Amino acid sequence: MQPAQFTAEPPSTDRTPRTYDVIIAGCGPTGAMLAAELRLHDVRVLVLEKETEPASAVRIVGLHIRSLELMAMRGLLDRILPHGRQRPAGAYFAAIPKPAPQGLDSRYAYLLGIPQPVIERLLEEHAIELGARVRRGCAVAGLEQDDEGVTVTLADGEQLRSRYLVGCDGGRSTVRKLLGVGFPGEPARTESLMGEMEVGVPQEEIAVTVAAVRETQQRFWLRPAGIGVYSVLVPAAGVSDRVEPPTLEDFKHQLRAIAGTDFGVHSPRWLSCFGDATRLAERYRVDRVLLAGDAAHIHPPIGGQGLNLGVQDAFNLGWKLAARIRGWAPDALLDTYQAERRPVAEEVLDNTRAQTELLSTEPGAQAVRRLLTELMDFDEVNLHLLEKITAIGIRYDFGAGPDLLGRRLPDMDVKQGHLYGLLHRGRGLLLDRAERLTVGGWSDRVDYLADPTAAVDVPGVLLRPDGHVAWIGQDQRDLDDHLSRWFGKPAH
Ligand SMILES: Cc1cc2nc3c(=O)[nH]c(=O)nc-3n(C[C@H](O)[C@H](O)[C@H](O)COP(=O)(O)OP(=O)(O)OC[C@H]3O[C@@H](n4cnc5c(N)ncnc54)[C@H](O)[C@@H]3O)c2cc1C
Repeated sequence: MQPAQFTAEPPSTDRTPRTYDVIIAGCGPTGAMLAAELRLHDVRVLVLEKETEPASAVRIVGLHIRSLELMAMRGLLDRILPHGRQRPAGAYFAAIPKPAPQGLDSRYAYLLGIPQPVIERLLEEHAIELGARVRRGCAVAGLEQDDEGVTVTLADGEQLRSRYLVGCDGGRSTVRKLLGVGFPGEPARTESLMGEMEVGVPQEEIAVTVAAVRETQQRFWLRPAGIGVYSVLVPAAGVSDRVEPPTLEDFKHQLRAIAGTDFGVHSPRWLSCFGDATRLAERYRVDRVLLAGDAAHIHPPIGGQGLNLGVQDAFNLGWKLAARIRGWAPDALLDTYQAERRPVAEEVLDNTRAQTELLSTEPGAQAVRRLLTELMDFDEVNLHLLEKITAIGIRYDFGAGPDLLGRRLPDMDVKQGHLYGLLHRGRGLLLDRAERLTVGGWSDRVDYLADPTAAVDVPGVLLRPDGHVAWIGQDQRDLDDHLSRWFGKPAH
C-alpha cells in the first residue's frame, strides 16, 4: 500500500490546537505498532514520546510465536529476522528446560531473541514509513475530553486535539492516572537487578560458581552476552520501586551476598532494575481515551510476555479504532477491544503469578516445580503451557460455534502464495473453498479469496484484520450477517 500523505492538518494558531484523528502517548513497541496499524487505514496519527532519544538499554526480549505471526501478516518478519536470533520453541514456562512439544501448529514455531531497542526502532520506522508522525521530547501531562474529541496538554503547555487518545505510555502511565482508572493488583514482592558488564575472573571459575548457586536460586545468572560482556541477573537487596537505575556497587554487593564473590565485575554497558508487581487496569476505555500495553497491565517478565501482549493489544485495537474513524464501525466494535483483550491480560497475569511461585527457593515451591517438570513430559501438558505463553491458544468469545471460531487461523499455502501474505493491508479476508460466496458490498474492507485447495477443513472462513476467525460456514445470508457484525453496513 502506498502511504497516504498528511493533508488534513489545519494550521495551528495559539488558540486552535492542531487536530489529529488519533494521538498516541508513548512510542514504545505498543504505541509504534498501533500507529502503523492505524496508518494502514489512512488514519491521521501523531505519536508523542516523552524521551528525546530512543531507549539504549540493550535488553534482549523474546518474540513469541503469535507476535511472529502478526509480523508475518504485515510483511514485517523478513525485516526483523536478520536482527534477532532464532531459538527453539520450548523451555519458556518458568524456564523449565523441556523441549517443544509435538503438534505445534505454526510456520513460525520458534522464539526470536532480539534487543528491545532494535524491535522498537523497526516498529517506529515501519509506522513512519506508513505516514505516522512521531514527536519526541513531548510528554503528555493533561487531557480533557468532550463529545467530539480530546484536548491533550503537553508538559510545556502546548495543546493538541484529536478524536481519540490512546495511552501506550507504559506501566507508570500518565494517561491512565489522568483518567482516574484504577490499577489494582499486587505490589512488587521482589526486585531484580539486571545488566551487562565485564568480569574479572576466568570463564571456568564463573561456570562452577553459577551452576552451584542456580541449584537453589532461579533468579540468578551470569552468562556471556557478546565479546567480553556478560549478562547478569541477581536479586536486589529489597523492594524500592525505584525509578533511577541501580549502580555497579549494588550489583557487586548482591553478587557477594548470593554467590560469595562479585566476579570482579566492571565496565557496565547498562544497568537496570525491575520488580514483580502485577496489576491490571480496571477499564481499557473511558469514552474517547483508551489504554494499551504496559499502561493497561504489568507483571513480572518471567516467560517474556509483556511486549508480546502489548503488540497484540495494538493489533486488536488498530483496525477497530480505524473503523470508528472511517465511519463504518458497528456501534459495539470498539468495546470488543476491552472485552477481548482484558481477559487475555488476566490470563497472562495469572500465568506469571504461577511462574513466579515456581521460581521460589521455598522447599514447597521447589517440590511443585519438580512435579510440574515431570508432568511436562506429557505432550499435552507441555503444549498447553506453551500455547499460553506464545498466545497461540487464544480463543476470543464470538458466541457459540465450532472450536475454530474466535481462534487465529495458522498460516498456510494458498493459490496466491501464503495466507498471511494476503493480510498485509490490514483488511478482512473471506477464504471461500466452495467458491459460492461473495463479500458483496463489503469489498472496500474485506478481500476475497476462492481457493478449493486451501488446507482448512471448512467451506468458508471470514478472517478479521487481526487474523482471528469471525465466521465459519457456507450460507451467504449468514455470512452477510457476520460481515455486518464486524464490518458495519455494506457500502452498496
Ligand atoms: C527485564 C525485563 C525483561 C523483559 N523481557 C521481555 C520479553 O522477553 N518479552 C516480552 O514480551 N516482554 C519482555 N519484557 C516486558 C517489556 O519490556 C514491556 O512489556 C514492553 O516494553 C511494554 O511496551 P509498551 O510499549 O507497552 O510500554 P513501554 O515499553 O514502557 O513504552 C512506553 C513509552 O511511553 C513513553 N512515555 C511514558 N510516559 C509518557 C508520557 N507522559 N508522554 C509521552 N510518552 C510517555 C516512554 O518513554 C516509553 O517510550 C521485559 C521486561 C523487563 C523489565
